[in-house]
Amino acid sequence: MSNYSLKHVDLNAGRVELHDLLELTGCEVSCNTLPQGASVPFVHHHAGNEELYIVLDGAGMLFIDGEERPIGRGDCFRIAPAGARCIRAAGDSALRYLCIQARAGSLEGYTMSDGVIEESGDKPSWLR
Ligand code: ZN
Repeated sequence: MSNYSLKHVDLNAGRVELHDLLELTGCEVSCNTLPQGASVPFVHHHAGNEELYIVLDGAGMLFIDGEERPIGRGDCFRIAPAGARCIRAAGDSALRYLCIQARAGSLEGYTMSDGVIEESGDKPSWLR
């Protein structure tokens, strides 16, 4: 069994979910594009997953727990499972964003507390 999976996706498609495509086991990631003026057609929360949104391009609005606030390229926001949320693109701009969903409270290590530098074995040509 391979230690990786790699697929090419159309980042301009309306929505692409990577969980099944890449056989993810610890998170779900979706690549989303809302055309100008379009909205996710419902408000939702989650039973146990938090969500990280990363706005890649464009502008829009975030509805969160009864408040509306503008969002745009470069904005990154975490929403706790109970947060009632909805996102729309601005009237004059499409909105492209990633949404990463993971079980709240599940992260035990990251970066250098989980990553292990390979001291031996194969190296890529650019590190030789
Ligand atoms: Zn969600």
